[in-house]
Amino acid sequence: MKVLACDGIDPAAVKRIRDAGHEVVEAKGLAAPDLIIALKGVHGLMVRSATKVTAEVLAATPDLRVVVRAGTGLDNVDRAAAEARGVVVRNTPNANSVSVAEITFALLLGLERHVASAGSDLRAGRWEKTKYQGREVCGRMLGIVGFGRIGREVATRARAFGMNVIAFDPLLKSPPAGFDWVKIADYDTVLRECDVLTLHVPLTDSTKHSLSTREFGLMKPDAVLVNASRGGVVDEAALHAALTTGKLRAAATDVFEKEPAPADHPLLSLPNLLAMPHLGASTSEAQKRAGLDAADALLEVLAGAQTI
Ligand code: NAD
Repeated sequence: MKVLACDGIDPAAVKRIRDAGHEVVEAKGLAAPDLIIALKGVHGLMVRSATKVTAEVLAATPDLRVVVRAGTGLDNVDRAAAEARGVVVRNTPNANSVSVAEITFALLLGLERHVASAGSDLRAGRWEKTKYQGREVCGRMLGIVGFGRIGREVATRARAFGMNVIAFDPLLKSPPAGFDWVKIADYDTVLRECDVLTLHVPLTDSTKHSLSTREFGLMKPDAVLVNASRGGVVDEAALHAALTTGKLRAAATDVFEKEPAPADHPLLSLPNLLAMPHLGASTSEAQKRAGLDAADALLEVLAGAQTI
């Protein structure tokens, strides 16, 4: 069968599909109508985040059996349109968890120790010692919103740093197995009690702007926020107001409501905001894992399609 691998799928994944006897065409930067042309006669499509698999694309590709996103979210795949056409949609939910947990700590420690600003001052010839006094994370209360795969990886690392952990997840009334040292509480209690708040929820109707003016009002003014979940979970205008009026000491974010964020985005001019361009899953380990998990998912579906 024929497979189109878009967006720079890991070479090991492409090899695994070829070794299983399928023809693989690799492509980058395709959008409709070129994507529709490239999908002629294609049974399996693999994407990362750049390729947009829209209802228009799906309606014009009758041979397609499966779309696999090498990554966690399915924001760039119109899942409902695919499933209505009998196209199976898969993702690789486990591949990125460690990388996102690690970037959460990169953001937190980078924020609290002024890594980016002290480093750029040094490059500009300024050896600043007193300006950049930091804060330890040890002994502080980490509030985790969303205690799924990534939230739990973050909790494990927080414990190693000597942090205490309080978490909210609507699916949990008590700590899951192995996490009896985590206090499970309601959302407002987590907001009130935490010194550091970290978000690990998907973007849904219920999580959109779930951190806004009311919620910042509940937090300690000395608290900091880390967001490596999805842009849109945080109300960016409310975050800007909280950071400029002293309601929140500082924040670090890997994600924006509209990506790529423009250089004149109001948050990017704030000295108490550390930002990265959505790099949570961008490690060689996560990309390889995502590619191989995606290849396995694709091969499983194509094997089923071949026997029909
Ligand atoms: P997961 O499904 O394992 O966990 C998400 C958890 O959030 C679930 O336990 C769910 O019950 C909980 N949840 C849902 N709605 C909630 C709410 N309103 N309040 C509190 N909790 C709620 O997902 P995961 O693998 O842990 O990933 C979490 C999120 O991380 C993803 O949805 C994605 O948005 C984000 N992510 C970001 C990057 C990045 O590059 N920065 C990479 C991968 C994933």
